Amino acid sequence: MKPKILVVEDEPDALELIAFNLKNAGLEVVTAENGEAALQLARAHLPDLILLDLMLPEVDGLEVCKILRRDSATSAIPIIMVTARAAEMDRVLGLELGADEYVTKPFSPRELVLRVKNLLRRRQATETKTDRITAGDLVIDIPRHLVTVQGRPVELTATEFRLLSVLAQRRGRVQSREQLLRDVWNYESLIDTRTVDTHMRRLREKLGPAARYLDTVRGVGYRFSEA
Ligand code: CA
Repeated sequence: MKPKILVVEDEPDALELIAFNLKNAGLEVVTAENGEAALQLARAHLPDLILLDLMLPEVDGLEVCKILRRDSATSAIPIIMVTARAAEMDRVLGLELGADEYVTKPFSPRELVLRVKNLLRRRQATETKTDRITAGDLVIDIPRHLVTVQGRPVELTATEFRLLSVLAQRRGRVQSREQLLRDVWNYESLIDTRTVDTHMRRLREKLGPAARYLDTVRGVGYRFSEA
């Protein structure tokens, strides 16, 4: 499946140029022309990356960035800030508003696509690829399909095991029901997303005390978290 990029830019020509080049590079693109729409779409789509113009009318890029970082649903999404003013970027990054990188205008579309792809690749590399995932008293042994809580094995179905593993491998990052249907069930088209909730309920029951590592993010999805 294609990584999804949310592009936020109020200038139609620039938006079109960026969207065109990202799509050409095999990425899925969602666009927003102002900060409000950006915030809504970020929650609704949980994109893999956000390309955020700094200068936006009303809610500007800095504010959007701050709100995204405060919201647990979107806090882990990588952000590339785009601006015409290089001088401001020290401030953007220095204030730790959470932008991962910045690009200054004018940029070559080719460079922009490269930056996006590099950041996506880095993000992927942070997914836990180990065979054994632990969180407190919960141990997930991927190759052996074995889960233990406080040293005692927990009997999970293949789907429950996969659901837990996918969430744990993306620890700290909210996964939408649609993402889980795609990655756990391998559904390409959306079927009833309540399927996810049903399995999640059973998984939690079986995990007992270790169910605390599975957060529900209201209106968005689920997340594996040790906090
Ligand atoms: Ca702008």
